Formats: sequence, C-alpha cells, structure tokens
Amino acid sequence: MARAGAIVFATLDLCRGLVKPGISTEDLDREAEKFIRSHPGAKPSFKGLYGFPKSLCISVNEEVVHGIPSPKRILREGNIVSIDCGVCVEGFHADSAITVPVGHVPPETERFLETTRQALMAGIEQARLGNHIGDIGHAVQTVSEAGGYGVIRELVGHGVGTKMHEDPQVPNHGKPKRGERLLEGMTIAIEPMITMGDYKTKLLPDKWTVVTADGSLAAHFEHTVAVTRNGPRILTMPA
Ligand code: MG
Ligand code: MG
Repeated sequence: MARAGAIVFATLDLCRGLVKPGISTEDLDREAEKFIRSHPGAKPSFKGLYGFPKSLCISVNEEVVHGIPSPKRILREGNIVSIDCGVCVEGFHADSAITVPVGHVPPETERFLETTRQALMAGIEQARLGNHIGDIGHAVQTVSEAGGYGVIRELVGHGVGTKMHEDPQVPNHGKPKRGERLLEGMTIAIEPMITMGDYKTKLLPDKWTVVTADGSLAAHFEHTVAVTRNGPRILTMPA
C-alpha cells in the first residue's frame, strides 16, 4: 500500500503543477493515467470501479466528489478543483485527494482550503491504537465547524486495502470514544468533505457528481493512513 501511496502522491503533485486556467479536467485525467501506468504493475484504482469511466475524480467548485473528467470542463481563474486519485499496485490500493485553487482565489477561499486540510491532519492525529473511529470524526468536525464550515454527512471515509472501499466507514463527524476501536495494522482513508455553506448535498443527473445543495464551494482532502504502534503513518505522503 505504501508503494501505491507513493505513486498517488506523485500523481497528485503532477496534477497540482498542471492546474491552470484553460486546462480541461480531461487533460489532467489523461496525464495522470499515463503517469500512473508508467510505473510497472500500477494501475488507476477508480477506472472501472462501479463503472466509473476515468482514472481521476475531478470536482470543480460546488462539486464535492466524483466529478467525471471531460474535455468540455475547462478550469477557469478563481475556480477551486478537487482531484481524487487511487492507485493499485499488486492488488493493494491507496487513495488520496487534494483541493487546489486555479490561479488566484479570494483570501476567504484560501482560508477555507487551508482549514479543510487542517481538519484532515487533525483527524489523522487521532488515528491511534486504542482510539475509536468517533475520535477521528470528532476532530475533523471540530476544526471544520470552528472555521464556520459545513461537514458533509452523506459521504464518509473508509477502510482501504485489497479493495478500494472496505469497512469500517470513517465519518467526518462524531463523538469521542464512540464507534469501532482502532487496531494495529488497520488502514483507513480519512477524507473530510467540507462546504463553505450548508452540508446538504444532491446528485447531478449524470448519477456520479455530488454537489452542495446550496451551491456553496466544497473542499476535499484525503490521505490513506495506517494505524501503527508508533502512531499514524500516512501512506500517501513521503515520510
Ligand atoms: Mg479518494
Ligand atoms: Mg476515499
């Protein structure tokens, strides 16, 4: 999983560098797929998963997750874009997401992105032996709501390993000491999905793209994390 995670990190880093006004989400997907497959034995986890047609999920502005890359979807100055990437190496998956500004965005949008990233890191900090799933959600929710933002309930993090999505579910809200206990060797995807407005969502007619119901901006940051006796180990980031 760490080998898959290293490729996920490098793919997202590549995409971050490509994001600029005028590029299409299809362009990002094509470059990412080419890069992933350039590593022997690696393939994009999302392509074909539940019938998803592309290698990345790319979600712009009020789109929360599962946006389908398209040559018609051109990034514009002032957008924010969430890029979600999964890679499989020899049967083991890793999953990570980032949200980045396209060109310049207002300071309040920068603050929103930074708070969501901090909410992820606060959640990861709780991924420790003896803690519970609720400790992670509580930490994510506390940071997000302190910033004045909405925590999406309908979508959650998940176990990840030989399948992309495994038990347990990892919600982004919760109460300390509640939910499943974290055991040594568990590997989970922690992924705050946060809005600048209300947390309710709806599904677009393409049956994939989830958007905020009120049209507010949404951010998504994710890492795959292993619970170890030495604390949380982020598998989708260099040590
Ligand atoms: Mg993901
Ligand atoms: Mg995930």
